[in-house]
Amino acid sequence: MIAAALLALHLCAAADAQSRGRGRSDNEVATPLIMTPLPPRRPADLTASKAKPAKTPPAPTAPDGPMGPPACFATFFKRGGIALPVAPESGDGACEITDPVTFRAISMPGGAKVELDSAITVTCAFAVELLDWVRDDLPGIISRENGTLSRLIGVGGHACRPRNGVPGAQISEHATGNALDLGALRLADGRTLTLVGTDAATRTLREALKTSSCARFRTVLGPGSDDSHKDHLHLDMRQRPRDYKICQWHVD
Ligand SMILES: [Zn+2]
Repeated sequence: MIAAALLALHLCAAADAQSRGRGRSDNEVATPLIMTPLPPRRPADLTASKAKPAKTPPAPTAPDGPMGPPACFATFFKRGGIALPVAPESGDGACEITDPVTFRAISMPGGAKVELDSAITVTCAFAVELLDWVRDDLPGIISRENGTLSRLIGVGGHACRPRNGVPGAQISEHATGNALDLGALRLADGRTLTLVGTDAATRTLREALKTSSCARFRTVLGPGSDDSHKDHLHLDMRQRPRDYKICQWHVD
C-alpha cells in the first residue's frame, strides 16, 4: 500500500511537472494581444535546447515488481527474487500480509534459475529468508548428490485458513504469508528428491535438509510431526517468546 501511495505521488509529481512544462511552452508560442516591439529572436539552437523536454524516469511498475519502501523489496531483488508483474494480494483482517510479494522463480548466484511449480505470495521478509535458504544452503547440500537444483515441487504460500485447516484452530502462518509448504526438490538432470519416505539413498540428503531448514526457519514440521505433515515440509518464521523454535521432522 505504501509502494502504491509512493507510485501515486510519483505520478502526480510527474503530471504536475509536465503541466508546468506545458505552461512554459504555451507562453512561448502564444500570440501577444498587445502589439509591442518584439524582443530580439532567440538563437534557434538555444530555443531548441530550452524546449527539449526534461527526461522523466520511467514509472516504477511491473515487471520490476514492488518498489519503494520498505528496504526489504530492494533486498528481495538483490537476493535473486523475481517478482511476477502482478499486484500481490495483501489480504485483509486476520489474513493480511505485510509487504506482500508474489514470485515463481529465483535467480541463483551463477545465473541459473530455480522455479517454483506454482507462484506463491508471502511477506517480503519471509521471501528473503526463503531466497537465502535456496541460494545459500541448498546448492551445497544437493551438490553432494552430484546435482543442481532446478525446481521446488509442491509449494504452497498464502492461504487464509486456520492451522491444518481445522475449524476454530489458531490462524495458520500461511494466512499471513509467513510460511511455505514444500513437497520435493527437482534437479536439473530430472531427478526428483522427495522429502518423505524411507529411501536409504536419500537419507543423508534429508538429514542435511532437516539441519539446514531447522537452522534457518523458526518452525519446521515434516513427516513424523503430525498427520497434516506426513507428505510435505512446512516452514515458517513464527515468532515465539524467548525465540523458541520448533524442529519436528523425523527422518526415516
Ligand atoms: Zn504449511
